[in-house]
Amino acid sequence: GKKLRIDKILSHLGIATRSESKKLVKQGRVAVDGSPIKDSGLQVDPESALVEVDGQPVRYREFVYLLLNKPQGVVSATEDRYDRTVIDLLDAEYLAFEPFPVGRLDKDTEGLLLLTNDGKLAHELLSPRKHVSKTYEAVVFGAVDESDGSAFRAGVELDDGYRTMPAELEIVRRYEREGAAHSDIRLTIMEGKFHQVKRMFEAVGKKVVFLKRVSMGPLLLDPALSPGQYRELSEEELTALR
Ligand code: URA
Repeated sequence: GKKLRIDKILSHLGIATRSESKKLVKQGRVAVDGSPIKDSGLQVDPESALVEVDGQPVRYREFVYLLLNKPQGVVSATEDRYDRTVIDLLDAEYLAFEPFPVGRLDKDTEGLLLLTNDGKLAHELLSPRKHVSKTYEAVVFGAVDESDGSAFRAGVELDDGYRTMPAELEIVRRYEREGAAHSDIRLTIMEGKFHQVKRMFEAVGKKVVFLKRVSMGPLLLDPALSPGQYRELSEEELTALR
């Protein structure tokens, strides 16, 4: 790998600001390959050198990949004037990487959202040509039936005239709630137009009242994550994505 200044490495990892890093080095709390260093401008290759702060090894990487279970009520953006964002849910150690959401879920949608600072991977996952599949679970107001399944398979026309690509509908359960027909469904789409799932149901005269994304490409929402929680991708998940 390439060599970087030690103060830059520590600040990039969110361990200390550039000036705090200088102090840590002065105080003899930073070691490289087993010996305390004296110069915070020392250049090391963070991928091969052992860098320690207070005896704790520092794991260097360029990118982070976070699997978030997005809760309702937060927006899929890095900054927002009025609303809390998905970035506000992250710990400082991850903020230093400046991650951003790969695609968007509506403010009232829950579920799987990948956050990363790997622009190349994000671009590939979002490319309309790649047809990355996304599966959603929804509660729909109305009795969803097989005719909706065939309509979605054939493609439906959205309110702006766009015709959707073939999508796969699974009707999980139909029931009455407060005297009205409701349906639990799963829908897999290969594209990601604005409000797509909600607008597909509108096209067949029904209304999505709860929406949650459970997969994106090879990634599955981890049932151990409650809304608002996140974890790093495993090596296996990362390999499957690339
Ligand atoms: N479709 C929608 O309507 N909303 C989302 O958040 C995701 C897909």
